[in-house]
Amino acid sequence: MSPPKKVDVNPKEQTILREWRELVEEHYLDDIKHLKGHPDIVWGFEVSHAHIDEKETLRLEFHINPTRMLKLGTRIMREQFEAQGVQMRPVIRIIELPEHYLRRLDTLRMRDRNRVVSIDVKITNVSQAYGWLKMAVYECKRCSTQTHIDQRRARERESPGFCQPCFDDLLEASEKGETSPRDLLPPVFKMLTEECKYEDVQDLQMCQVTYNSDHHVLNTSTRHQILGTVNDDLVGEVLTSTYARVNGIVRVQPIPERTFAKDTRRLLSIDVLSVEMLPLED
Ligand SMILES: [Zn+2]
Repeated sequence: MSPPKKVDVNPKEQTILREWRELVEEHYLDDIKHLKGHPDIVWGFEVSHAHIDEKETLRLEFHINPTRMLKLGTRIMREQFEAQGVQMRPVIRIIELPEHYLRRLDTLRMRDRNRVVSIDVKITNVSQAYGWLKMAVYECKRCSTQTHIDQRRARERESPGFCQPCFDDLLEASEKGETSPRDLLPPVFKMLTEECKYEDVQDLQMCQVTYNSDHHVLNTSTRHQILGTVNDDLVGEVLTSTYARVNGIVRVQPIPERTFAKDTRRLLSIDVLSVEMLPLED
């Protein structure tokens, strides 16, 4: 596999990385050490929101840009796993979110997109596990340069528009007046299937549940449903007919199985960050 690309980080991102490193060192080093020798390939590492709350920038970024904040956190977690000789790939699972994240499904709107929410639900259906292409690797057929392109689930696969080295060559040649008609042909790419990154996922159908202080279910609302997607270590872990507090990021999806590519209608869904079982009784 190719080495991970160094990504430029701005000052705010450097602060996020520093706070993540502090958080892990202050609270989780022993837990990481205990994972050494574990045979799994991927490990869902639970981080309590109370620890996020102690860090000014992490607390804010979890609220306003959770995807980026977790991506940077995963980088630190991977470093720490490697430093402790743990072979698994970590996935950060933030748990025990404060009550102000708790929302009812009927109150979710498009403006909540990309925000973190907690919802109390009954799991009414769990799909088969399937994989999706998370990052595609393309090779230019002319110069063999590789291009990595992050993909979006349930969207058309994106391919590179042009090849930078070939484009630079073309510019240079045209400055010298040496372009041949062949140079002006659009670049052709092939996808390197074996180099691509895939992710295991499962879709969950979830209904709003309400319960009283004795943990007795008062109502399960089939009117208020939403689709959630779990990945990696959570695949196979969530069971139909159980009750759970699902913490996740609100996403906007095209309506499934619509053949009209330009259909503008969209559905809300949840990219699940963590699942906490609710001890409820019917
Ligand atoms: Zn090229």
